[in-house]
Amino acid sequence: MNELSIDEVLAEVAVLVKPHFGKGRVPDYIPQLATVPGTKFGMAVRTVDGGEHVIGDADEGFSVQSITKVLSLGLALNRIGDEVWVRVGKEPSGTPFNHLSQLESEGGFPRNPFINAGALAVTDILLDKVKDPAALVRGFAGFLADGPVEIDEAVAASELANAWQNRAIANLMRGKATITHDPEAVVAAYCRQCALTMSCRQLARAFLPLAAGGFSPLVQETIFAERLTRRLNSLLLTCGIYDSVGSFAYRVGLPAKSGVGGGIVAVVPGKATVAVWSPELDRFGTSVVGARALEAFAQLTNCSVL
Ligand code: GLU
Repeated sequence: MNELSIDEVLAEVAVLVKPHFGKGRVPDYIPQLATVPGTKFGMAVRTVDGGEHVIGDADEGFSVQSITKVLSLGLALNRIGDEVWVRVGKEPSGTPFNHLSQLESEGGFPRNPFINAGALAVTDILLDKVKDPAALVRGFAGFLADGPVEIDEAVAASELANAWQNRAIANLMRGKATITHDPEAVVAAYCRQCALTMSCRQLARAFLPLAAGGFSPLVQETIFAERLTRRLNSLLLTCGIYDSVGSFAYRVGLPAKSGVGGGIVAVVPGKATVAVWSPELDRFGTSVVGARALEAFAQLTNCSVL
């Protein structure tokens, strides 16, 4: 890190991203998400040695959507172990997060756990173990963030009422036996999980184990084995930003996960987590301002892993 303090870096990032508001679009395919003002911007940094730095709307809760896929995958790997990889791949998809044709041509086997097909498979795996996977993920998120995390039922209902593409994915997978539960139950659990509301501060806290070799300095517990932590970060680096993961790695150089609620969480292994929120998305479903903010943060702090 250079001589700027983290607070100074965040202040500079907030200035640098200003010209990028208005370049993306708040998504409306989940109607409830379209009600969020595009001007929101928050960022939080949590360091492994206990530092916490925030700017803007960092304490406002937002729909974290696909960021929850990292938590559900972590839970599945902790509970079931490498068996998960019999059901889900580890390759970047190169196609949009809700694509069907690749899934069909590959026998219903999802390329990775972060595209929707892969996350639905993980939900299906969790349904083997628990009745309510969304409640499990919510509890895990709250434990890791060291504070309560809620499911926004309006967002969950809004997504479920419009989840035709995810239903198509789940039905295709059920037809190929790559999920085993009722597709409607899998989609409903998945939508509720995606509707978790968290703030940037909470996200930065919850992802801290990925920056600290699997240990959460916040709750003082080992969450993931060290080897699993490395693997989760590798998956984030190669698959966390869907079909723009290559250009994101080129620009930012950090493992990260995006969500269509406009959040992105990035991991600086050994050092910190950085969560950012700005609702306007690019055509790949990634926050335009959020990606810019992380790019600026990585440059100003020289913290990229690449
Ligand atoms: N619930 C969203 C969907 O299935 C998640 C996508 C995302 O956040 O990237 O479309």
